[in-house]
Amino acid sequence: MLSLTPDTLSISFSKEIETRKPTGYIGIDMNLENATCVDNTGKITVIDMSRIVSMKMKYREVLSHFTRDDARIQQKLKQKYGRNQKNRENTFLHQESKRLASTGKQIFMKNLTGIRKLYRKGNGQGKRFRFRLNSWTRFKLQKMGDYKSQWHSGFSVIYVNPKGTSSKCSIYEAKVLEENRMVTCHRCGLHIDRDINAARNILARGMQFVPDAVQGEAMK
Ligand SMILES: [Zn+2]
Repeated sequence: MLSLTPDTLSISFSKEIETRKPTGYIGIDMNLENATCVDNTGKITVIDMSRIVSMKMKYREVLSHFTRDDARIQQKLKQKYGRNQKNRENTFLHQESKRLASTGKQIFMKNLTGIRKLYRKGNGQGKRFRFRLNSWTRFKLQKMGDYKSQWHSGFSVIYVNPKGTSSKCSIYEAKVLEENRMVTCHRCGLHIDRDINAARNILARGMQFVPDAVQGEAMK
């Protein structure tokens, strides 16, 4: 587009994004170690994010072993390690989000809140710290997934209310009991991996935003 006013001439470009109809629907539940994806045909894929978090933990550990003999060298090494670490994380997230977006499916995810709050506290140790590191990775994966989905298909990720997605049965919405990462529903007898149950709930919740979807399609 070219626009001319008495004082300025501006040219702007934009990619013509044709909004396509989704080829399917996919619910994604992200936890500490992975992102579990369930689509409307029931297909399950898991994105393993644990190595990213492990890599970040290792990076912290390497830094803690640096001696203070030469501050300048130390600074340079820190920068180098930091860059490597960030590049590896970004490469991984770009790959995974592109793979998700290129399926042409409408993605549903939980609305993640409190990222900043998570980052404020903590002493850099233990499970809490792992959680915070992972939260940032999850946040990035969401943003990249959203962006790439818009780029490829013309539609954004739809965020759903996370409340109850982990604690309720994905068939009857009754409360489930959890043990060893498995959930059991005493009403319908469902006994499945808790992440898969949560991803199915997210998918079902997302389907409510899709006006012409067949009722119950998500649950087959
Ligand atoms: Zn049930």
